[in-house]
Amino acid sequence: MKLWEKNIRRVVPYVPGEQPNKPDMIKLNTNENPYPPAPGVRKALQQDFNTDKLRLYPDPTVKKLVEELATFYSLKEDQVFVGVGSDDVLAMAFLTFFNADKPILFPDITYSFYPVWCELFQIPFETPLLDQGFRITKEDYYKENGGVIIANPNAPTSIYEELSGIEDILIHNQDVVVIIDEAYIDYAGKSAVELIAKYDNLLVVQTFSKSRSMAGMRIGYAMGHPDLIKALNDVKYSFNSYTMNAVSIVAGVESVKDVVYFKEGIEKTLTTRKRTERTLKEMGFSFPPSGSNFLFVTHEKIPAKELFEALRENNIYVRYFSAPRTNNYLRITIGTDLEMNQLFEFLKKYIR
Ligand SMILES: *Cc1c(COP(=O)(O)O)cnc(C)c1O
Repeated sequence: MKLWEKNIRRVVPYVPGEQPNKPDMIKLNTNENPYPPAPGVRKALQQDFNTDKLRLYPDPTVKKLVEELATFYSLKEDQVFVGVGSDDVLAMAFLTFFNADKPILFPDITYSFYPVWCELFQIPFETPLLDQGFRITKEDYYKENGGVIIANPNAPTSIYEELSGIEDILIHNQDVVVIIDEAYIDYAGKSAVELIAKYDNLLVVQTFSKSRSMAGMRIGYAMGHPDLIKALNDVKYSFNSYTMNAVSIVAGVESVKDVVYFKEGIEKTLTTRKRTERTLKEMGFSFPPSGSNFLFVTHEKIPAKELFEALRENNIYVRYFSAPRTNNYLRITIGTDLEMNQLFEFLKKYIR
């Protein structure tokens, strides 16, 4: 071993879902939206964007997008923080808020990036077990801790916890920062945003990657008390002041402006989700109730890993998790009706 090697920060990285690029593939593996972003986004980028502007640094405060989001959620501008995808916002939030000696808490089955950030930033953590039905036991979060993060709806289980359950966790954790990762909230029920006025230690994180069809743009945001937002910004400016590029800011603003297109897109996915639920049930699959743009399915006879590989060989990509409690499940993104039909067709032949 060379001497300098002992000073390297070693991490076991998060492994994102594969991003194959084949012409005929059906890509249902990373919960992307099958529909394009709002028409205003295309117009702003293809017609109106003046590339001469790229000469200049972008606005470090991201004022235009912050304003637009604040209006959309009826918040003040000092209650909104924007970053490069919610992964960036969440990483920044872990770095900013989870600095206690006590462990932070999150469920054993959840977004697998959380333990990676804990390792990277050397944050101690504990992972209370979800119950047999993949539900949170809220009493697990009553003990002393250094912070809490809950994905709601949860990934990869797809389950939405009612807001009363989230509020119960907040009531029992008023001395630490509680982060609610709402990447899929637009497909579920009430957002915890309405609790921000009541709990100054609550940070709600959302993304443009799923319901807004803009995973490629990398836009995420956090909402909370101005003191939390200021702390986040202080860390951001100590790291990289210009995280948001000029193109993303323009595209983000246009997306938020088009409320009608946004709601229609969600409705389309919910309709396809219902149809997918019915069809998969008939084929012998079961799954928890979904509050997301994906289903977490298991089959009564065929092992998930076998199905995953068979689908993959036929250019249909879904996500498989090999961890002990999830290794007989597949996470299937809700695509277009046409894509789902092709999935059903394959499954009908394979399962028979
Ligand atoms: C997709 C996802 C994210 C990250 O989304 P970005 O593309 O980085 O905005 C964060 N949390 C959960 C639970 C997700 O599923």
